[in-house]
Amino acid sequence: MISVNRPNIAAAKAALDKRSSRDRLTERQRVTNHFTTGIPVKKPTYSAYKKAEVKKALNDLFNHKCAYCESEYESVAPMDVEHFRPKGAYMLPSGKRSTIGYYWLASEWTNLLPSCIDCNRERKQFRRQLDGQLVKSKSGKANKFPLLDEAKRAKSPNGEKNELPLLLDPCLDKPAMYLEFLDDGGVRPKNGTLEKKLGKGENSIAVYGLDRDGLFRERRKIMKLLFSQMNHICSFALNVREVPGSARMQADFTRATNELSNYTTKDSSYLAMAKPMIRVFKKTLKNTTVYLDIKDRLLADPNNAAIEVELLAQFKKLKAATSIDKPAKNLVTQMIVWMRLRE
Ligand SMILES: [Zn+2]
Repeated sequence: MISVNRPNIAAAKAALDKRSSRDRLTERQRVTNHFTTGIPVKKPTYSAYKKAEVKKALNDLFNHKCAYCESEYESVAPMDVEHFRPKGAYMLPSGKRSTIGYYWLASEWTNLLPSCIDCNRERKQFRRQLDGQLVKSKSGKANKFPLLDEAKRAKSPNGEKNELPLLLDPCLDKPAMYLEFLDDGGVRPKNGTLEKKLGKGENSIAVYGLDRDGLFRERRKIMKLLFSQMNHICSFALNVREVPGSARMQADFTRATNELSNYTTKDSSYLAMAKPMIRVFKKTLKNTTVYLDIKDRLLADPNNAAIEVELLAQFKKLKAATSIDKPAKNLVTQMIVWMRLRE
């Protein structure tokens, strides 16, 4: 999940607030009348959120990807227009469904998100735990909308402003503060202050099913491609060092490095995983280059104890990034091999 800035999109808002030719009311007014004034509506129906203008605006905003898991859904299934706050009913802490939901937000632009079927609809899925074990259990958001304080649950329009939801909204939260993607395709709650306080990452992984095995395997495929590209870049970096002044080798290195941007285009899947991995790669490449520069100086001056100490310190710095808690520890370990570094 990545952070997405949500502007007002006039075409979508116009479609959501269009007045019916029959009673001159918007869907929101009709439904609100039903629940607050007793003006009868046989059974409130919700359809404004499904209009083509709304779907187009959501597709444009999220680049045709699920707001929660960043998968491209259109190759296999239509988009679900998801209500962040459920329109019809929500799950109570007791496990029962409420009698009414956030009806006043059913056609509210800021409450709508594009979702794949598996993040939105509840069903049993194989889910991959961090130890690699697969466990079959339910995931999918459906009517879930947990709050930090159930007593502050909104019962009528504008009441939602007092709520503190325990699920991540990509348009309001910074998901990177709560979620951490690993270099094998896994995901875990971030070890940080905000996550410890609210647990939004842990809840979002469980409710949206960000740990479901199919999703894990798709993310791992991208990581394998990234690893392969990074391996090429490391080889080219070594070539540039071995044959200084070779324009062709420098060009190979520059081209391969530029190709990393293919994984970070707006419409690429799993940016929340790929972008930090590429950042770690670039930083580690810089650190390994520093290490190799020190090594060259030592080769030219083999009895210089100060350079030897410097070399050891730089190697320790690189190894520190392979400690158990680093999300990119496999990547850094692999880079030490690709760059042929020895202590
Ligand atoms: Zn999804």
